Amino acid sequence: MSNHYQILVIGGGNAGLSVASQLLRKRSNLNIGIIDPSEKHYYQPAWTLVGAGIFDINKTIRNEKEVIPKNTTWIKEAVAEFMPTENKVKCSSGDEFTYDYLVVCPGIQLDWNKIEGLKETLGKNNVSSNYSFQHAPYTWEMIKNFKGGTAVFTNPTTPIKCGGAPHKIMYLACDYWRKKGILDQCDVHYISGAASIFGVKEYAETLKKVIGHYNIHVHFGANVTAINGENKTVAFETKEIDENLNQKLCSENAACYGIIEHNDTEDLKKVILNFDLCHTVPPQSAPDFIKNSPLRDPANPLGYVEIDKNTLQHTRFSNIFALGDCTNAPCSKTGAAIRKQAPVVVTNLLAIIDNKTASAQYDGYSACPIPTQYGKLMLAEFDYSNTPKMTFPINQAKPNWAMWILKTKILPWLYWNKILKGTA
Ligand SMILES: Cc1cc2nc3c(=O)[nH]c(=O)nc-3n(C[C@H](O)[C@H](O)[C@H](O)COP(=O)(O)OP(=O)(O)OC[C@H]3O[C@@H](n4cnc5c(N)ncnc54)[C@H](O)[C@@H]3O)c2cc1C
Repeated sequence: MSNHYQILVIGGGNAGLSVASQLLRKRSNLNIGIIDPSEKHYYQPAWTLVGAGIFDINKTIRNEKEVIPKNTTWIKEAVAEFMPTENKVKCSSGDEFTYDYLVVCPGIQLDWNKIEGLKETLGKNNVSSNYSFQHAPYTWEMIKNFKGGTAVFTNPTTPIKCGGAPHKIMYLACDYWRKKGILDQCDVHYISGAASIFGVKEYAETLKKVIGHYNIHVHFGANVTAINGENKTVAFETKEIDENLNQKLCSENAACYGIIEHNDTEDLKKVILNFDLCHTVPPQSAPDFIKNSPLRDPANPLGYVEIDKNTLQHTRFSNIFALGDCTNAPCSKTGAAIRKQAPVVVTNLLAIIDNKTASAQYDGYSACPIPTQYGKLMLAEFDYSNTPKMTFPINQAKPNWAMWILKTKILPWLYWNKILKGTA
């Protein structure tokens, strides 16, 4: 195996394979190496559906060797170090590879350990997360077997992949319990680090109604710090204890609340909530080997790769591009965003190879398909300016059946058959 490639791609996930396939479709003689240590490739967007009991987890996984584009070289190693001034990367095995051009897309890191007790209890004690292939099926076990009580859904304070996933599963769970006739016995809480339910006004309006419909209690600006599975408690910090919460503290039915700390100077309260079921999403950041590298954005506390948010070219190393979940581009981190980013990287990379300027522009497009009940979905599409960018000639802010079919049937097929092959 050679240790020099014209184009070296770091990460053979959604972004890496899309870019490699599209590059080869444009220029079949390119010499491309893809470094990725994983034997398996995952279609993560379907994990929400697995957690809701309507998708087979085994259909979300394939062998990496089956999806790696033909005429590329798969290097089954993990990159540990970037040496951009020498056009070189070093792997954890000690092997080094050099390149003319580099495409960086190793995804995002799930920081499970940032929530105390979470790793120990995940997958048992009615604590689950759709953010893990291993545990998404357990989410469905919990939802299906729930008999009423306090159900807690958490969303961290950091940006995450698919910002909608923490609440998508909550709406489906509520709908399931409604159909089962037990929703009125469920006290459902959404504890979120975000300031609102959705950043785009038009879609947020719909979700506010859905939240009201299911009688969900929302806690925004809250940072989940610990989950204790055996005691069935979730601890979070918040600056705002809203009136509802205070009322509940005084109410007889408020067994699930207790303030354990109140620091007036910092105005930060710690709240403990008892739960019977907890779906959680871990804080996320750039993979550590990016954080510790010269490629990182020094101004970004989460260590993402520093790129021009429109051309996707590194701001300091002109032969390096990055896309997908690992970058500091202020877009929503989704596969849908990658569908629009990949052609921009391909066009600009080929332009640079031809000694032209990188002029293709990514506008921040992303999409979040949010099921609001079984059989209905709101397809939220938007760009950097948080302006709706609807593809279809209907009001997509209104959940409907066709978008549900798109998410549950068409997109999984498109992913394996078109997107990874560079034809969609
Ligand atoms: C529960 C859930 C629901 C989601 N729902 C949606 C949705 O509805 N719509 C949507 O568009 N998106 C959704 N997403 C997000 C989508 O899956 C991601 O945005 C997308 O997979 C990101 O692609 P990526 O290539 O950047 O990273 P990934 O696809 O995660 O791939 C990263 C690759 O890098 C490799 N890698 C890691 N470390 C190294 C290393 N050291 N060296 C080399 N390679 C390395 C990994 O093995 C992996 O193959 C969802 C995600 C989750 C978890």
